[in-house]
Amino acid sequence: MQDYSLNITQLFQHGRTVHGDSEIVTYHGPDADIQRSTFAEVGDRADQLAAGLAALGIGDGDRVGTFMWNNQRHLEAYLAIPCMGAVLHTLNIRLFPEQLTYVANHAEDKVIIVDASLAPLLAKVRDSLTTVEYIIVADGGDADARAELGLGETLDYEEVLAAQQPGYDYPVVDELAAAAMCYTSGTTGNPKGVAYSHRSTYLHSMAVQTMQGLQVGEADSILLIVPQFHANAWGMPYAAWAAGCDLIMPQQFLQAAPLADLIEKTRPTVSGAVPTVLTDVLHNASDADLSSLRFIVCGGSAVPRSLMEGYDENFGVTVVQAWGMTETSPLAAISRVPKNNAGDDPYAWRVRTGRVLAGVDMRICGEDGSVLPWDGEVTGEIEVRGPWITGSYYLEDDDEKFHDGWLRTGDVGSIDSRGYVQISDRAKDVIKSGGEWISSVDLENTLMGHPAVLEAAVVGVPDDRWDERPMACVVLAEGQSATPAELTEFLTGKVAKWWLPERWTFIDEVPKTSVGKFSKKDLRASYAKGDLAVEEV
Ligand code: ADP
Repeated sequence: MQDYSLNITQLFQHGRTVHGDSEIVTYHGPDADIQRSTFAEVGDRADQLAAGLAALGIGDGDRVGTFMWNNQRHLEAYLAIPCMGAVLHTLNIRLFPEQLTYVANHAEDKVIIVDASLAPLLAKVRDSLTTVEYIIVADGGDADARAELGLGETLDYEEVLAAQQPGYDYPVVDELAAAAMCYTSGTTGNPKGVAYSHRSTYLHSMAVQTMQGLQVGEADSILLIVPQFHANAWGMPYAAWAAGCDLIMPQQFLQAAPLADLIEKTRPTVSGAVPTVLTDVLHNASDADLSSLRFIVCGGSAVPRSLMEGYDENFGVTVVQAWGMTETSPLAAISRVPKNNAGDDPYAWRVRTGRVLAGVDMRICGEDGSVLPWDGEVTGEIEVRGPWITGSYYLEDDDEKFHDGWLRTGDVGSIDSRGYVQISDRAKDVIKSGGEWISSVDLENTLMGHPAVLEAAVVGVPDDRWDERPMACVVLAEGQSATPAELTEFLTGKVAKWWLPERWTFIDEVPKTSVGKFSKKDLRASYAKGDLAVEEV
């Protein structure tokens, strides 16, 4: 067979020609017109962006940051930047200023493309960005209007494109060259950079399209709720482009009401979002018409059964759980009901974290590093390797994150004989009580099954007798009430008796990380400072 370079340029040229009439659809809010462009048009504009960046001196391996919502221009950056040989660095708009400065400087971004509505956030750090030579603003208006943004001298996105013609002469890039990079959200210490190669992105895009993956095809249209800065929006943009699948981009309209409006107007068939967004839609737009959706893929943190049931019963839409990390491109496992399921309750399968995808090797290891069996019982740290799993962190000394060439995921769980993985905790959130592990994920998911509970996070807190015990932090649904005694009663029989929390606190909101996960670090810190009103039972 031919030795053919696996690269994003091949996918790009395929999509813009073979699927030239597929569409990128951008939402501008409930009262504005919906913007529609064909792949052919977007392809031409990506050419112009590549030429414009080249005119600014961007060349092989240079990093170009994006600080953007999910929209058409962000997709143009996804296509132009890697294909011209540069590296797309998607910046997380929700990072704290210090972290944002750290990642942009660490990656040595030369250019940042920013949506005008996000300019105030970038302006806060502009003076500390030491490597950025140009800032290109999308929708920022004329030079006078842009001068008000606090970003110093800037270029206008449309002017950069208008100065160039379609038909950029893309180089042949080495398949092992970096195409894109993304930093982990850095819940402890500084964020760590992961660089995706052209080859890894190509192979991941193929896996995402498969029936065992996210089932992306030309007949579909994906509503991309998961941000493009969160692990490449789970690989859906490139997979959709390659398959000719329409992409619907919600920009900043991520609350329940505008999402419901967008779904009703554009009728997507597939979507992807973290549990917090889906919970919001279920509670605050329960009368929405989601009937166009075949399924919604959900991950990033554990997906409670109650959320899946809520979507089945209320909307008639299947929520499919997937598992992955920034380090794994991210799709590594996805949970669907297997054949030969002996008529089991489908939820018994669907609530599992995921079934490993072809292309990913997965194993569990004990604390001594020994490899443990796939028996669905024993738990240990999940380790993975494969062509779209990172082999190192960008410019980091990171030996402890790897084990004989496998990535240590920091997730604790079991794997069964059919390759279903069940994550019980992140290693750093594990609750060890009297020498035994309590799964905070199980406790949370069970608690969230109570009708009065909107969200529940369970963290380990110090305990004189047992070293550590679980404390439940509960957010009640609007207009609902529940006492610790009632919730304990509800848990009884559903989890082991010795798991039942003695400490309870009712809070207005669970603090979230920049990618919408429960920030247990913040909850533990609030408890240690005595900031939480804790009831003991
Ligand atoms: P970061 O590492 O930057 O917080 P990621 O999105 O890369 O952000 O996080 C990956 C982690 O998210 C996994 O290691 C795992 O702990 C968690 N995660 C992802 N999907 C699931 C899932 N379906 N169930 C439980 N945890 C999940």
